[in-house]
Amino acid sequence: MDYNKLAELLFPQIKKTPDDYEKLFPKRELANGAIVTRLGPSPTGFIHLGNLYGAFVDERLAHQSGGTFYLRIEDTDEKRYVEGAVETIITALKFFGIQFDEGALLDGEKGSYGPYYQSKRGEIYQCFAKELVKKGMAYPCFLTEDELAEIRKAQEEAKETTGIYGKYAEKSRNLSFAEIEASIAAGKPYVIRLKSSGNHDLPADKIRHIEVKDAVRGTLSMPENNQDIVILKANGIPTYHFAHVIDDYFMRTTHIVRGEEWLMSLPIHVELFEKLGFAMPVYCHTAQLLKLDNGNKRKLSKRKDPELSLDYYRQEGYHPKAVKEYLLTILNSNFEEWRIENPDAPMEDFPFTTEKMNSGGALFDLNKLNDISKDVLVKIPATELCEFMTQWARECKPEILPLFEGNEDYIEKILDLGRSGKKPRKDLIYAKQIFEFISYFFDDYFKIEDTIPENVSDEDAAEILRRYLESYDHNDDQNQWFDKIRQIGTEMGYAAKPKDFKKNPDQYKGHVGHVSTVIRIALMGRNQSPDIWEIQQILGEKRTRERIGLLIS
Ligand code: GLU
Repeated sequence: MDYNKLAELLFPQIKKTPDDYEKLFPKRELANGAIVTRLGPSPTGFIHLGNLYGAFVDERLAHQSGGTFYLRIEDTDEKRYVEGAVETIITALKFFGIQFDEGALLDGEKGSYGPYYQSKRGEIYQCFAKELVKKGMAYPCFLTEDELAEIRKAQEEAKETTGIYGKYAEKSRNLSFAEIEASIAAGKPYVIRLKSSGNHDLPADKIRHIEVKDAVRGTLSMPENNQDIVILKANGIPTYHFAHVIDDYFMRTTHIVRGEEWLMSLPIHVELFEKLGFAMPVYCHTAQLLKLDNGNKRKLSKRKDPELSLDYYRQEGYHPKAVKEYLLTILNSNFEEWRIENPDAPMEDFPFTTEKMNSGGALFDLNKLNDISKDVLVKIPATELCEFMTQWARECKPEILPLFEGNEDYIEKILDLGRSGKKPRKDLIYAKQIFEFISYFFDDYFKIEDTIPENVSDEDAAEILRRYLESYDHNDDQNQWFDKIRQIGTEMGYAAKPKDFKKNPDQYKGHVGHVSTVIRIALMGRNQSPDIWEIQQILGEKRTRERIGLLIS
């Protein structure tokens, strides 16, 4: 077979040569050790935690090393394309502080290695498919859907590996030029398949193994590929495998960060790199995000787990720093230790390494995220938190925006409640929870949620509040204020100290804690809250008196 003639028959329109592309996309001029990474999402409109997790690794590796991080849109599947999806990807990641240096950006494509949309790269893929045909390493295959289904059925019945290889590939591999020419003239659709050199007839233990360096998993040894996989579909569009190899080579990606679900097809990629004569990049196959469900680990699911969607964190109002800090704890096993040693350092100072990445499943746990969020938020100044809350309200809960806008002083004091001192309170987790937590500061949201302690009668409660209101002086300091509560309590038969009551429960109705709980419920509607005196200082005298008065009448 004259492969040159075949290549011209199949790709008459392709005039450029591989050399042209080598010149068009020269090696990047990079400082020593600089890493080039990419994110290659399909524009499906759904951006999930896995994307952020991968993007974070990409971003860290590139920016930590003075390299480049770019966005390539893998839009070869028209069926999955959703309008506005690219914008969603970019804005969702930007919220988490992840920005691209190059690629498909909001104001157009940036960089000299584009186009950055796979749908615009048809000519490049075809040039290299043509090249493989010329070398006798790829061929057209006219098998119809029905024929493929039949082969598959026969293979399944015989318990053989499915796919086109060995004897199943023979017919298409051996078509003559005249047969191919006639089929094309008759308008028969065809795909281009790789002519794999993998030997299919060897017993499993004799099959050649390939070795691939994976920065997360070490050196991987896998049986070589022996399937004649499709590289160009009937419509001329490349498969993931082919596009990955061509794009990452010509965009000069140094590190491929992608999910472990791609490990299985790694031998295909190795064969493609070899046949095309391209140097291999470094692979970093990340562990899948798992969650514990009734004690069993399972993959996060779009249907069952709202926390898989990045929008969830936006809507709930998680601070991007908290989510990133949490992701780092799952990504790098030494991050928590580093954090203990460097409590105040920005997380960008952490030396992120692929070697410390988890290669087993990475367990994602919302409770752990919440714990980390508490630690992160306690370090964010109230002014910044106030801005964050305001922005969240603007986007996700506009009806409460007026409570924030123009009331910054009030809000900042609320957010700072109990946060000074050696043991700051860590009540704040995410915007939705924070609003719930502080809602009693707003009259429209204030409601009595808890009941008074059992050992305080309704009459006593009213009496406590009456006496409290009478003796209330907004200028009392914390000690003067508490002395008054103690006095009210002892006068009414409540022990001045909880331990006195514990020792002699028969002698008292209760203790000073029960008395202050009554006041707390009147003021906050809740039996748990930060310090009452401090809250009163924020509420102000008028509101304090009003709330106490409300429960007496
Ligand atoms: N488009 C692929 C995906 O969304 C990208 C995989 C890769 O990063 O290579 O799964």
